[in-house]
Amino acid sequence: MVKKKSLRVPLTSIPPEGLEVEVDLGEQYFSRWREEDPGLEFSTAAISGSVRLEKHGRDILVRGALKGHLQLACSRCLENFALPADADFDLLLVPGPGTPGSEDEEISAPDLDLDYYTGETLDLEAIIREQIILMLPLKPLCSEDCKGICPRCGAVLNREACTCKNN
Ligand SMILES: [Zn+2]
Ligand SMILES: [Zn+2]
Repeated sequence: MVKKKSLRVPLTSIPPEGLEVEVDLGEQYFSRWREEDPGLEFSTAAISGSVRLEKHGRDILVRGALKGHLQLACSRCLENFALPADADFDLLLVPGPGTPGSEDEEISAPDLDLDYYTGETLDLEAIIREQIILMLPLKPLCSEDCKGICPRCGAVLNREACTCKNN
């Protein structure tokens, strides 16, 4: 198995036995992403793992295993916390409209998520970003029993005593 580090993968560089791409995204990467996209819901993260690419005719099977954590603000107490993140995904990329070979018969794979690629270079970064976004919870909580913030005095109840009830 050939190993590779770049997240832009020319299709011709995927050998018949497949290609393994190492993923190692740290703080620098995420601060750059935040500059491009200030609406990102996490402040930083660390994600690593690997993605395997296999060619099946003109289709490309992408199998990823990513692990790490995302730094998020709790929706209840607003404090930052690290959320353990974990994603295993299988994607089948088929040639998009306008890509040579898009008329070919596709391999049938009802259990796989289908996506399209265009051109001759695979943008693995876009795929990984999408997977990271999918890891984000709708309502992040630092813990299931986070006590939140007192609406009257603003005390962070996980670590401060609220005196309201004594008054
Ligand atoms: Zn909380
Ligand atoms: Zn209070």
